[in-house]
Amino acid sequence: WLAWYLTTAAEPLRINTPKDRGLPLFRPGGGLLGEALLAHPLRFRNRLQGAFVAIGERSAFDASVSRVVSLMSNQAAAAIDLIELLEANMRLALHDGLTGLLNRRAFDEALERSVAQSARTEQPLSLLMLDLDHFKRLNDTYGHSIGDLALQAAAEEIRHQVRGGDLAARYGGEEFAVILPDTDGPAAFRMAERLRAALADRVVHAPEDDLRITASCGVSATDLGYTTPETLVRSADEALYASKETGRNRTSLAGSPRS
Ligand code: GH3
Ligand code: MG
Ligand code: MG
Repeated sequence: WLAWYLTTAAEPLRINTPKDRGLPLFRPGGGLLGEALLAHPLRFRNRLQGAFVAIGERSAFDASVSRVVSLMSNQAAAAIDLIELLEANMRLALHDGLTGLLNRRAFDEALERSVAQSARTEQPLSLLMLDLDHFKRLNDTYGHSIGDLALQAAAEEIRHQVRGGDLAARYGGEEFAVILPDTDGPAAFRMAERLRAALADRVVHAPEDDLRITASCGVSATDLGYTTPETLVRSADEALYASKETGRNRTSLAGSPRS
């Protein structure tokens, strides 16, 4: 009832009830009946964010208390609005608009941090680079918006396959990267193969056709001797290129001879 009231109320609500009747006002925690209620909507630019609700003894909330709460509530509402705005901006600055994955800038920062942490904890770290195969052809055949749909499908599959602590990013146009903390090269290779196979199995539903996409992957890792952000990226990229050269829709591990 209170929630319903506050969604429409312009005025704060102040109620005093006698001890033995009236509204059942429970004090949080104690379970004792309260006797007075003061509720103030937290509203900023006409958007309801929540409410300030206080329960107390009889006549605890007179008009002057209500005025102070009103001032506090309005300031809190403005502060909450500002925080939400800042958080939304931060999300926009760090994420790719099409896929929702981390963008290139966020990836670069995350890789720096992850490499430093890996050195500190002496745990391995792997990097997976993934590039969609013949993507230009898909764009040319079906159009750019279907290409975008395929990129979103690929991103969704990546999100689905990675573990909790992994960081997935859109590295460039149709190229993706995943940072895998606490993961050595062979384990990252298995993960990449699982992702590659899942992508190849996936059907992308476009308005006029059901499409399939494949990707080529390259995996690099600190336990393979690539211990800086630059060498990790370069060696993963070279491994990815080896996958392209040897037929696409496959995964290569950095430093391995090309088969
Ligand atoms: P390969 O198998 O060698 O990787 O061939 P490819 O065609 O995938 O590679 P190429 O680098 O020649 O083409 C990449 C294409 O990706 C070209 C570009 O138009 C497309 N692309 C890049 N960003 C976007 C995007 O945001 N949306 C769409 N629809 N296409 C994009
Ligand atoms: Mg490509
Ligand atoms: Mg590419």
